[in-house]
Amino acid sequence: AGDPVVAEAERPAVRLADVGGMEQVKERLELSFLGPMRNPEMAKAFGKSASGGLLLYGPPGCGKTFLARAVAGELGASFTEIGIADVLDMWVGASERNLKAVFDDARRRAPHVLFFDEVDALGQKRSHLTHSSSLRNTVNTLLAEMSGDNDGVYVLGATNHPWDIDSALRRPGRFDRMVLVLPPDEGARAAILRRHLEKRPVEGIDLGKLVKATEHFSGADLAHLVETAAERALADSMRSGQVRPLTMKDLQAALKEVQPSTGPWFATAR
Ligand code: ATP
Repeated sequence: AGDPVVAEAERPAVRLADVGGMEQVKERLELSFLGPMRNPEMAKAFGKSASGGLLLYGPPGCGKTFLARAVAGELGASFTEIGIADVLDMWVGASERNLKAVFDDARRRAPHVLFFDEVDALGQKRSHLTHSSSLRNTVNTLLAEMSGDNDGVYVLGATNHPWDIDSALRRPGRFDRMVLVLPPDEGARAAILRRHLEKRPVEGIDLGKLVKATEHFSGADLAHLVETAAERALADSMRSGQVRPLTMKDLQAALKEVQPSTGPWFATAR
């Protein structure tokens, strides 16, 4: 710990149109974030600020990171992802210096999207830090940096625990917009399943049927499902020495093993 967390910046080529399904989320992103950022004067006239950040929340593995990349793609911005837990894992004083460096770097690269993952780690409730004063200092640094002169710096955050977020971070000019990202709907599941299946030898796949059978599956669960089915086809292929494509039978067997993981999130959502 102690190394700078300024990560490599990438320039995402993905756009919102590449996000399958999730029409309401895309519409909200467009109306409450992308639109005002693209038309700051007009937004101001209607009392809508063009500064401030956007918080994506919901169960894990449901595309928050993917959506953040697509937002960068829409804005023609470069992108860095910063794990808040990593920032906090530093020596006293280093977290603050690093956060400052992250913002300085973003201002130099503008237009730039800063994506903070696990924003809830900054809340007292979730912190494992014994020194709550150093947590306080980190939060204060983030607040100060977010309200600085950040032309062309777009701050996005993600959390699976929105209730544990430090309330100071939710005030105007900070993470003042929130978008709920639910488990992938049918359109999203079709896109995700297609993506995982198209890189493997397959035969007779009924995508519609698969989409219906995978309600409540997260993106990560869907990946796991296809991997499990692929293992089965691979085992057969290795036994016979001949490639046996992945079929619905493999997927049906995998469906008996792989359970959707999003249930517990809804059960604990207070
Ligand atoms: P989170 O940040 O919420 O934990 P994530 O974005 O890291 O989630 P997944 O939801 O597992 O992870 O998504 C993994 C990959 O699946 C993405 O990088 C993307 O390529 C693809 N994917 C996810 N959602 C969609 C979607 N709606 N349409 C198309 N592809 C998707």
